[in-house]
Amino acid sequence: QMTNETLKAALGRSSWHLFHTILARYPESPTIEEQDILKQYLKLFATVYPCGDCASHFQLLLSKYPPQVSNRVNAALWGCEIHNKVNQRLGKDIYDCSNILEDYDCGCGNDEELQSM
Ligand code: FAD
Repeated sequence: QMTNETLKAALGRSSWHLFHTILARYPESPTIEEQDILKQYLKLFATVYPCGDCASHFQLLLSKYPPQVSNRVNAALWGCEIHNKVNQRLGKDIYDCSNILEDYDCGCGNDEELQSM
């Protein structure tokens, strides 16, 4: 039987993995529609995140540091920085964001952006 803290940490790691991987594959030159989709996705993610305390803190962070959706690099760096805000609050080490795009390889090779975007 895993403890609540173990389960919460595992959920966090999976969620951050998907979060950073999505941002690392965001278009380099997004259309206005793609920018809107990312903003909505992040807002909904912060709303449905299944840990009430985490979700409400993250919603506050999102309003203080609005998602940077202008292009891939800015979006990925924004994601790295906001995760660092969470790290800071939880007393964790600050992550080095300088290779953020390489750190989150989706394994999807040369497929370009998501087909639906
Ligand atoms: P994690 O923070 O889960 O990171 C996983 C891996 O990502 C790290 O090992 C490292 O390789 C890499 N990484 C670390 N920092 C960054 C970064 N800045 N950018 C890119 N990659 C990075 N837990 C709580 O107890 N209270 C909360 O309020 C809370 N809020 C959360 C809010 C959200 C939106 C999410 C997704 C998770 C939240 N969590 C919260 C969970 C918490 O952030 C961690 O996921 C969990 O504690 C496990 O931590 P970890 O040390 O394994 O590393």
